[in-house]
Amino acid sequence: MPDACHCHCPGLAPLPDCKNRDWARRAIALLEGDARRSADTHLVKPAFAGLGDIQIYLKDESTHPTGSLKHRLARSLFLYGICNGRIGEGTTLVEASSGSTAVSEAYFAHLLGLPFIAVMPRSTSPSKIDAIKCFGGHCHFVDHASEVYATAERLAAENGGHYLDQFTYAERATDWRGNNNIADSIFAQMQGEEYPVPDWLVMSAGTGGTSATLGRYIRYRNLPSRLCVVDVENSAFYDAWVSGDRDVTAPGSRVEGIGRPRVEPSFLPGVIDHMIRVPDAASIAAAHVLSDRLFRRVGASTGTNFFGLLWIAANMRREGKAGTLVTLICDSGDRYAATYYNPEWLAANGLDIAPWRRMIEIFLNTGIWSECSP
Ligand SMILES: *Cc1c(COP(=O)(O)O)cnc(C)c1O
Repeated sequence: MPDACHCHCPGLAPLPDCKNRDWARRAIALLEGDARRSADTHLVKPAFAGLGDIQIYLKDESTHPTGSLKHRLARSLFLYGICNGRIGEGTTLVEASSGSTAVSEAYFAHLLGLPFIAVMPRSTSPSKIDAIKCFGGHCHFVDHASEVYATAERLAAENGGHYLDQFTYAERATDWRGNNNIADSIFAQMQGEEYPVPDWLVMSAGTGGTSATLGRYIRYRNLPSRLCVVDVENSAFYDAWVSGDRDVTAPGSRVEGIGRPRVEPSFLPGVIDHMIRVPDAASIAAAHVLSDRLFRRVGASTGTNFFGLLWIAANMRREGKAGTLVTLICDSGDRYAATYYNPEWLAANGLDIAPWRRMIEIFLNTGIWSECSP
């Protein structure tokens, strides 16, 4: 009788040991360690005299080790790639990014000892480029935001690597029903507050992944909260949501991290209750005002979020309603000293933020929303 271990039938090869999974097991342990060494991010509750009975909360994602909400996404994309067998020992990782995601991915690539290439628009903030290089990542620049996708795909193919593709996988790499995703974390932190179920969650869209996670979660948990997505100038999302046409394109946003030239696959309009589009000058003005009030700088996408939140608060006040609103601090404004916090850059881009600043200050102090002032 032939020894089973020495059978020469090609379909009956000897059983492998677990060695070929040693790298993946070690990688998962390293990613778990990174999470274990961090606490959850703060849910801060600033008070503004003009808001009356409307409570507002800001989920501060700027305090992750890599400085933005993209720390969560990068971690999810790495876990997804490893557990799906697409990332292994020595795999070259490539990403298309406006910067923040690439910073977080460079950090995780460094943690796991993998080569990393970021494909970004030439206009990306110098401090993000420095951070990527500091983690040993390589930066590949393109002239226009719409070129990042094809270039990243090509570089991955040329290097026999893996295109992380945040714009496609953001919505599915995150566990949508919980597992401490950002929605789970916000609602857990709200427990015990005066109004623990927010009336509105407000979020801008880059990949659309965070708004997808928030929108699905409130439906899955059967909560009455609504999701308002705030878009910016020169972005395709708002027009797509209004028209239902996913093929719309746009020139490309000036607000780093949000607003896209195309409707990203991770943008899920079906879970969005309302959308508004905020002028760029208003977003940046709101970032300046919030920075003054928090005694630290926030990024421009946080300004977009904050302006959208205040606009909803103004509507609620007009209707005499009390309630709760939640949005995110997406990243720190220190990354943007040369742009959104630089008067010369603002002037060169034709952005006059002074009238919007005044309007926002008046609203925060008195509750009066003077629609026509800017
Ligand atoms: C990515 C990003 C966003 C938007 O988050 P998504 O989940 O990708 O839609 C907002 N602000 C900043 C700074 C970002 O990097």
